[in-house]
Amino acid sequence: MAHALLGCIADDFTGATDLANMLVRGGMRTVQTIGVPAEGTHIEADAIVVALKSRTAPPAEAVRQSLEALAWLRSQGCGQFYFKYCSTFDSTDKGNIGPVADALLDALEENFTIACPAFPENGRTIYRGNLFVGDVLLSESGMENHPLTPMTDPNLVRVLQRQTRSKVGLIHYNTVAKGADPIRVRIDELKEEGVRLAIADAVSDADLYALGKACRHLRLVTGGSGIALGLPQNFHSADLLVYSGDAADLPKIDGKAVVLAGSASRATNAQVTEWRLSRPSFRLDPLALARGEAIVDSAVEFAESHFKGGETVLIYATSPPEEIRVVQKELGVTKAGQLVEHALASIARRLRDAGVRKFVVAGGETSGAVVQALDVQSLRIGPQIDPGVPATQSIGASDEAPIALALKSGNFGTTDFFAKALRVL
Ligand code: ADP
Repeated sequence: MAHALLGCIADDFTGATDLANMLVRGGMRTVQTIGVPAEGTHIEADAIVVALKSRTAPPAEAVRQSLEALAWLRSQGCGQFYFKYCSTFDSTDKGNIGPVADALLDALEENFTIACPAFPENGRTIYRGNLFVGDVLLSESGMENHPLTPMTDPNLVRVLQRQTRSKVGLIHYNTVAKGADPIRVRIDELKEEGVRLAIADAVSDADLYALGKACRHLRLVTGGSGIALGLPQNFHSADLLVYSGDAADLPKIDGKAVVLAGSASRATNAQVTEWRLSRPSFRLDPLALARGEAIVDSAVEFAESHFKGGETVLIYATSPPEEIRVVQKELGVTKAGQLVEHALASIARRLRDAGVRKFVVAGGETSGAVVQALDVQSLRIGPQIDPGVPATQSIGASDEAPIALALKSGNFGTTDFFAKALRVL
């Protein structure tokens, strides 16, 4: 039985998908699991990404979950490990990046790793240890106002040093620009100086490829999804990637489809408006849900009546911000969100039972609720639909028919995303 090569631990769900998408583009067959799979589960893939919800958990809890993920990934035979966090280094002085990186190093009995959240394609670059978002420093990017992880210091060496007792160093841009061999020499120097965690400068994809190559012998790499650009090539060069087909190939799934939108973001509002110009849609009214009206039944009936004519429908709660505010004022933010999530989750379950096999879902939390309702535990990652959003397929017990899913966090995707996703699925 072939075993996985790269085992990844991601601190949130959409970040995990983003990383998995990157690895597939690098030619690695990749599976994303939702949480740590049960002991004894075997997954056939070149790379496995375990999606945790540990970004803003208490540090001890984040460490516990990450070590559990590591132990399971080791049981899959992985030889190299990757800790994925946000490209804006979302964390506080207590953690969780430092404590988790330390714990993973300890568990692997290793004494060095790099930390590189750079993602130049999305405007995240690091120069002399300072993280830029587009043209401004991290601390002026809006991230300084983040409700859970305010980033008020752009210097990642200082930020990470506050989170760990390990010595933090820097792989300077002057070295990174010279390529993989000089980076490796610098890594050896830093180790001699007692540095355990080193921030790496990177301002271009070429820098990420060089860093990826230089990290070939590190058992643990940490970063955003950008640094994953350079890692697949190491496995190609070592002739370890034996699969001859396209890593993004997924078997074809036949069946009916539905689009479910529970995101209230600007991009999703535009996607809903675009769809409604020419295709059938059903609006979920949270106030009617709160009154206990049989909206879920009506939505399912609406979808089924259109299936007869071969049409795909959109079921959505997405509304402009001013309407959302009215609903939230009346019901409370949490209750409004939960009502919508529960409704979309039960609609998904009932439509699956009615033969729907393809789901396009808009919204991070909404995707979580739908995936849970459909009892999906892991996803094989397919071709990219839009940046950061791949087509996926559920992997279930052998007697379960797989489901095709496109899970989009709110602000991703072009205006015609829904139609495009349906074509790819
Ligand atoms: P995003 O990825 O855009 O943040 P999420 O699904 O994560 O989308 O979050 C959107 C939240 O807003 C969900 O909890 C959802 O249930 C809630 N929501 C969606 N539509 C409405 C609405 N019309 N009124 C109130 N809350 C809503």
